[in-house]
Amino acid sequence: MGLEEYRRKRRFEATPEPPPKIANNGGNRFVVQMHRATRLHYDFRLEMDGVLKSWAVPKGPSLDPADKRLAMQVEDHPVSYFDFEGIIPEGNYGAGTVMVWEVGTWQPLSPVPVDGKYVPATGEQAQEMLGKGDLKFRLQGKRLKGDFALVHIKSRRGGSKGNEWLLIKKKDEFAVPGFAIEQFDTSVLTHRTMTQIGGDQKSAAWESSRPASTRTKPKAAWLADTLARVEKGKKKTSAGRAASEKAKTNKTGGESRAAAKKKLPRAS
Ligand code: MN
Repeated sequence: MGLEEYRRKRRFEATPEPPPKIANNGGNRFVVQMHRATRLHYDFRLEMDGVLKSWAVPKGPSLDPADKRLAMQVEDHPVSYFDFEGIIPEGNYGAGTVMVWEVGTWQPLSPVPVDGKYVPATGEQAQEMLGKGDLKFRLQGKRLKGDFALVHIKSRRGGSKGNEWLLIKKKDEFAVPGFAIEQFDTSVLTHRTMTQIGGDQKSAAWESSRPASTRTKPKAAWLADTLARVEKGKKKTSAGRAASEKAKTNKTGGESRAAAKKKLPRAS
């Protein structure tokens, strides 16, 4: 993919984000950035081929294998984006607050299990799996650990632009049924909250400048449309979800979790 799209979307004299430079050395880090732009989402990035392969995950990653998180592939980002945390000023692409929510290393895994276990794969195999739309990998982070898969959703006729994937936790000893992402609300790098990163005054001004009635569409129209669809689907199935949530709560005694979930700002 390269960094042309990353470059095209930004004015580097107006944003503190790093310039589009392809890295020479092959690293194997990953980062998850919490990004309060027009809508709150989490950006999941894997260091690969001198760039960060990137997906916008409206609800964020989960350690619950039952959660299949929609992940929209976005433009590759430069490797130096890895520790970017701060404010993208208004008027810029992705304007809002960015927090480094998670960092760690990743390792591609064999496409098929060997004796019931996924084993490490090569970078070349990772390329191939990404191309085929089924990338399995292991994360070693502070908050996210264990085996995951990113699975490309086949685009329907006249439907998505083909950038929709699912981020799924595999069943292993690191799985956490009922995982609640809101338990982690600070930066793993600076331990600041979104409010502290955004600055009280600034974030207040930013909030009041976008009343719901006049909220502007994100520049990426496909993102807005997809998020709207997710939002709609959520409402439609809310009755069924409430029931399953109740069952989950009863099983695991996660009452505070359910309560915390309710308090969450909409994830998209
Ligand atoms: Mn983002």
